[in-house]
Amino acid sequence: QTSLAAAGAVLTIDLDAVRENYRRLKARLGSGACAGVVKADGYGLGATEIATALRKEGCDTFFVAHVEEGVRLRAVLGNRPAIYILNGLPPGAEKEAVAAGLSAVINGSEQLDAWREAARRSGRKLPTAIQVDSGMARLGLSAAEVEAVAASADAFDGLDIRLVMSHLACADEPAHPANRAQLAEFERLRAMLPAAPASLANSSGIFLGPAYHFDLARPGAALYGINPTPGSKNPMLPVVRLEAKVIQTRTLAAGAGIGYGHTVVTEGPVETATISLGYADGWRRRAMAAAHFEGVSLPFIGRVSMDSIILDISALPAGRLKVGDFVQMIGPAQTLDQVAGLTETIGYEILTSLGHRFHRQYI
Ligand code: PLP
Repeated sequence: QTSLAAAGAVLTIDLDAVRENYRRLKARLGSGACAGVVKADGYGLGATEIATALRKEGCDTFFVAHVEEGVRLRAVLGNRPAIYILNGLPPGAEKEAVAAGLSAVINGSEQLDAWREAARRSGRKLPTAIQVDSGMARLGLSAAEVEAVAASADAFDGLDIRLVMSHLACADEPAHPANRAQLAEFERLRAMLPAAPASLANSSGIFLGPAYHFDLARPGAALYGINPTPGSKNPMLPVVRLEAKVIQTRTLAAGAGIGYGHTVVTEGPVETATISLGYADGWRRRAMAAAHFEGVSLPFIGRVSMDSIILDISALPAGRLKVGDFVQMIGPAQTLDQVAGLTETIGYEILTSLGHRFHRQYI
């Protein structure tokens, strides 16, 4: 990538913080194991770098969503770690999954049949997770399918069932009754399946308490610094810092229309700075916020453009902020969760929408 001088914005990803977050989650789990969810290119932060950092903490189980993500990750991680495909294998992808040594997450009885057939053809026992739908209605064997496969003598022939798993729909709302209901249904369904380690908790699920931990937890968000306990203090370290470069400063007289649509017309003189970051970088157009420079909040003024945002810098001494300086967009002064809150979305969506033209640095 190009130099910092050539960059419009800088995304800094703190891999030590990712490792510390992994250690914190592991400490909560006691004897239970902890996987790393690195789908969507490690929630936009780089699956290769994140998974490599987690390997250093002893993490040996990874989850991605697509076969293609799994194939790429396998090339980086070598043969040892388990890589599970959460979305299941689309019909026809079994051969590639076998070749890359991927573990299938079986989400329905048709996938089970196809994977068993792949095992027969390859002559190998294939690593497998059975996902059951304990009450999210998204993916996984329904209760009726679990009963049907449990009654069949050869449903799991050729398969090495390494995990029975399910996913929680409301774990970020600890008091939600669906949590206990899903826990009970997961226990009921797993008892019908071959004995295997169990996995239920995502990041928030880990904080619901030991009853939800089982043998393996599957956090993603918390590793990346997103608060798994919304409404309480974030127990995780921030991982991401986003800074944008000042590309022009100006002094506007009264009566100046600012940006697209002239949504603001100055009433008196205003000092502004234009920064090199916009909605094409994943900063949502509706997310009217502030940038920060040396502890001073610099509010957006006028609409967010594709590649730039105008700041009101009148709060700074004249000449203090110069072309080439960087202002903080996500960081200690304005957290990822706060930025998400501006447009009533979640940190997950902000992270995975961040653009690809940032200067990226891993520290
Ligand atoms: N397990 C499954 C099945 C998921 O779909 C996800 C992500 O959405 C996770 C685990 C990780 O969840 P989180 O990022 O909330 O920790």
